[in-house]
Amino acid sequence: MNELLLAIAGLSAAQGEALEIAFPHAPGVAAVQAEWNEQRVPFVRDEDRWLTVIGVDLDTAAGEHALVVEADFGADGKRRATGQVEVTAKQFPTTELTVEPGYVELSPENQERAAREARETAVIYATVTPERFWSEPFAVPVRGATSGSNFGHRRVFNGEGRDPHSGADLRATTGTPIYAANRGRVVLAKDLFFSGNAVFIDHGLGVYSVYLHLSEIRVVPGEMLEKGTLLGLAGATGRVTGPHLHWGVRVQNARVDPFSLLAL
Ligand SMILES: [Zn+2]
Repeated sequence: MNELLLAIAGLSAAQGEALEIAFPHAPGVAAVQAEWNEQRVPFVRDEDRWLTVIGVDLDTAAGEHALVVEADFGADGKRRATGQVEVTAKQFPTTELTVEPGYVELSPENQERAAREARETAVIYATVTPERFWSEPFAVPVRGATSGSNFGHRRVFNGEGRDPHSGADLRATTGTPIYAANRGRVVLAKDLFFSGNAVFIDHGLGVYSVYLHLSEIRVVPGEMLEKGTLLGLAGATGRVTGPHLHWGVRVQNARVDPFSLLAL
């Protein structure tokens, strides 16, 4: 159990970051899981170690948060270790934006549609696939791009406060090819009210990447994509001020900066 305690000692992450947790395999360990942010997070075995990824939501309070790791020794029972993750505060600026009024004052049918789609995406994000589909590092979905903007910004649309911006906006003109950031299964590929043409990829372990405002979608739900597969073309569909790629990542429902995945 010392390995467990060591693995979860001294962990720290900023608001809106993904964090990898790994420790060496010990004889007899059949399965490992963590409890983090009221979610159960499975570990996967990768040769001689166990690993997983947890997410710190951009609105998680700064300070210490409990992380419980439980190793299952089969017939020999389970052992638990509790540690703390130190969450550090990050400053997120406020952005004022002007969009078509229909995206701020919704018609009754659009309100109904947006609510239905929010329920649908909430079900996707709440699903933690107990496998890790990827083995290579995550990559930026626009060739040549090295940064994005606006992650975590508090947003005011046409003078009205709305949810914080949960992804990174990447410069991309309409028609720019967009590639899967890593291996995973397409779980949604269609037009959404706010997001426009959207592709959601399940990478396993509760890690999802999303690609929004596309002009064209080139994949279908259920498809397993290799890292770097062309999934669509950038555009300006949905609630936007112009063409770009909105790249978002959820880790067990936590909204994290996609660029924080690159360091895993
Ligand atoms: Zn965006």
